[in-house]
Amino acid sequence: MIRVGIGYDSHRFGAARPLVLGGVEIPGAPGLIGHSDADAIAHALIDALLGAAALGDIGGHFSDRSEEWRDADSIELLRLTIDLLSRHGWRPNQCDITVILERPKLGPHVAAIRERLAAAMDVDVDAVSVKAKTNETMGFVGRGEGIAVHAVATILPVG
Ligand code: MG
Repeated sequence: MIRVGIGYDSHRFGAARPLVLGGVEIPGAPGLIGHSDADAIAHALIDALLGAAALGDIGGHFSDRSEEWRDADSIELLRLTIDLLSRHGWRPNQCDITVILERPKLGPHVAAIRERLAAAMDVDVDAVSVKAKTNETMGFVGRGEGIAVHAVATILPVG
């Protein structure tokens, strides 16, 4: 049996810290505002994985009102999500992620992001797809106010 989940996240630019997406520090843009490190790729992927297992959402497991998760490394949250799925009898199969932002160009960083996410999920890098596009200058993404990420993930029973 294979199950599928969908995830979405958005964050606003403007934090006084590095821009981190998919666990990779990306130069050329301000950081994203958020309670954790605001890694919107990791957050959308976590929600897709949790959704596939019907285990709620990221806010339910890593509350943005908890001091425990302030400035949290979202790759660590992804690892904890994989542990949670494992305890419920699930393992990640593959994922597909679309990142929507005007700048900076994500292309040069996609390989590193795929490797980082694959390592955190303990899957082959071939099982992790990351695509980036602009919003053709439309809406909050188009105005450069923030970033949006869509993710789909499938999971399989352990063993
Ligand atoms: Mg988020």
